[in-house]
Amino acid sequence: MNLILLGAPGAGKGTQAEIICEQFSIPSISTGNIIRESVKNGTELGLKAKSYMDSGELVPDAVVIGIIKERLAQDDCQNGFILDGFPRTIPQAEALDQMGVVIDRVVSIEVADEKIAARMSGRRVCSKCGASYHLEYKKPAKDGVCDACGGELIQRKDDAPETVIERLRVYHEQTEPLKDYYEKAGKLRLVEGQEQVADTTALTLAALKD
Ligand code: AMP
Repeated sequence: MNLILLGAPGAGKGTQAEIICEQFSIPSISTGNIIRESVKNGTELGLKAKSYMDSGELVPDAVVIGIIKERLAQDDCQNGFILDGFPRTIPQAEALDQMGVVIDRVVSIEVADEKIAARMSGRRVCSKCGASYHLEYKKPAKDGVCDACGGELIQRKDDAPETVIERLRVYHEQTEPLKDYYEKAGKLRLVEGQEQVADTTALTLAALKD
């Protein structure tokens, strides 16, 4: 199954992607994580992407399309994948279509902007493996430590309040039109983001089955 998870930054799509990919035994592909890894490693891509990312802007389409093309060509994507954070613009969605990638379902996790800002302040990510946590909704077993790899949990720079406002603006302007794009293709399902992660997962799984 080839899936796309849409949603505003902080709507919880990364967390859902991590849960669902285990259930379906398919990789979850986060362009944000790939880019952050490149920034950390100081690669050419990382150097190009850092300033966009830090200010809450989107990295240019050509760069992310190149990343996704390479990633989807890897063997572990043969039986399906979940895209978390791609596509984020209409040209990115068109590029997927042009690559011949057939998307089975697109789930958009809907959370009001006001709730997002509050949620983002509690968000933490693993500095080593990128797994996501939340101080209230998805606590690690041990404070500040990643359950999966033992890495240190940190707050992302782009989760700072001013940057969150800009990321929401960019989401509404550039990413939200994708709902219409996939609605027209009959692939879109909307899921109301819930307070509890497990409740959102139940709704998301139901949206994949109908
Ligand atoms: P995320 O972790 O998905 O919220 O992504 C963090 C940042 O990486 C975004 O704010 C963008 O700067 C960049 N990014 C990730 N995915 C994309 C994409 N599909 N298109 C453009 N920029 C992206």
